[in-house]
Amino acid sequence: MIDLRSDTVTKPSEGMRRAMANAEVGDDVYGDDPTVNSLEERVAQMFGMEAGVFTPSGSLANQLAIRMLVKPGEELICETNSHIVRAELGAAAVFSGITTRTVLAPRGLLTAEDLIAIARPDSGPYLVSTTALAVENTHNFGGGTVQPIAEIAKLRKLSQALGLGLHLDGARIWNAHIASGTSFLEYGQHFDTISVCLSKGLGAPVGSVMLSTKERVTSARQWRKRYGGGMRQVGILAAAGHYALDNNLQLLANDHSRAKSLAIACANAVPSVINPLEVETNIVALDLQGLNITAAELNAQLKSAGILSSALGPKFLRLVTHLDITDSDIETVTQVLPELLKRAFVA
Ligand SMILES: *Cc1c(COP(=O)(O)O)cnc(C)c1O
Repeated sequence: MIDLRSDTVTKPSEGMRRAMANAEVGDDVYGDDPTVNSLEERVAQMFGMEAGVFTPSGSLANQLAIRMLVKPGEELICETNSHIVRAELGAAAVFSGITTRTVLAPRGLLTAEDLIAIARPDSGPYLVSTTALAVENTHNFGGGTVQPIAEIAKLRKLSQALGLGLHLDGARIWNAHIASGTSFLEYGQHFDTISVCLSKGLGAPVGSVMLSTKERVTSARQWRKRYGGGMRQVGILAAAGHYALDNNLQLLANDHSRAKSLAIACANAVPSVINPLEVETNIVALDLQGLNITAAELNAQLKSAGILSSALGPKFLRLVTHLDITDSDIETVTQVLPELLKRAFVA
């Protein structure tokens, strides 16, 4: 099977497994795991943040971060199709009493004006007060799109003027960096909290890091334990994160060029499904409106040809390239998928 459902499906490589097996470990709840400690410090330094806390999932990293910025009954503003509001099962409401309001942005690309236009800080006794905004970069359901750094800088300036916190859901900030050339330090300087995933394109089996000030990270560490996310000799997982940063970061460029080839092949068959110029990273989001097929049907047809994809909406099919996909896999997919699209177009 050629598995393009997500970049989370990768299996740890031999080298990564060796690094994990050889990791120095200790009880991380006591702060004794040297591999976890060095990973937290390393990632924090990369982004110019004071501290970091290792978490089992990106959702937990996001949830700890927004809990640090928004009190119960206060409001976080996000893009309508962001992971925080669509894919974390209401965690912000369930665990933190956070309410959200959303703005729909084409391809998930927010403008500073969009977000600020609906922000209502200090709303007094009758209305909900906005206390933070969240940006997703790259934007997953938007098609792996990169938020331009100029827009992020503008957003930072406007949100600071209003006294609002700014969170970056940087599950795929690695891909944004590789695609745009914007440095991690430059991204880091605009945010109060950041979450990053080691288990997506970087190919680690588990792990995210939440970054912020020392004070917020100390508090987030307590909340992590309270949520049941305090882990013990977890240096074996942090070692996979170190290995991924050492060896896999630069390989993301391959994922990006493979996604681009896929998009070009699809657009050559049926131009309305995707604009290859808009495929900046490793996600190929096909818009099947105007075709005589649903995402579920195309997903099933691909599956019988040995290709796995994700039907994320009635007419929205997503394919994601990753470490375990080869050029020959992409060749196979470009032989099958464009033909299926053409058939659905003329039918
Ligand atoms: C995958 C992802 C996360 C975290 O997901 P987990 O499955 O909880 O690790 C967060 N944000 C975005 C945009 C993602 O794609």
